[in-house]
Amino acid sequence: SDLDTTPVIATRREEATGFFQRMVSKGLGWARKNSLWQYPYVTACCGMEYMSVSSARYDIARFGAEVPRFSPRQADLLLVVGTINCKQAPILKRVYEQMSEPKWVIAFGVCASSGGFYDNYATMQGIDRVIPVDVYIPGCPPRPEQVLDGLMLLQRKIQDQQHKLIDRAQVPTLAQGGGER
Ligand code: SF4
Repeated sequence: SDLDTTPVIATRREEATGFFQRMVSKGLGWARKNSLWQYPYVTACCGMEYMSVSSARYDIARFGAEVPRFSPRQADLLLVVGTINCKQAPILKRVYEQMSEPKWVIAFGVCASSGGFYDNYATMQGIDRVIPVDVYIPGCPPRPEQVLDGLMLLQRKIQDQQHKLIDRAQVPTLAQGGGER
């Protein structure tokens, strides 16, 4: 027949692929936002509120984020809790770089967000000068409810992001430095 169906078939195939990718992205987003593995980078007094939000009364486990990991390679949420001085900046950056993708950052309290009232030569005026930040939580210190509010904001952000299955061809092998410590 003169009828050429190729463009129609190609379009349907693209639609099906797009639908599949959207479903995968939604599923991965849902799984990732509900199983955050946090690395608590705690330096100062905000740490007291971190302990509070992690314990039974405020129960961060309700959001699937109760497990701290002290190896950046096992964490996907960097919680920067407290004042960061300029000498610590390269260390914080290195910890961030050692986390694998996808990863997110919360600035916990005004010191991490903007330097707070430590407006001096020794204090980082916000961690976003060295690493990207997804959510800023105000307060000195923030109340646990504020921290949970910030966490829920991050969960919404994660759900709205595009998530892809890992392309194994792009994962570096040991010979290419994939196991470097
Ligand atoms: Fe301490 Fe306030 Fe800074 Fe938190 S924001 S580390 S409570 S000074």
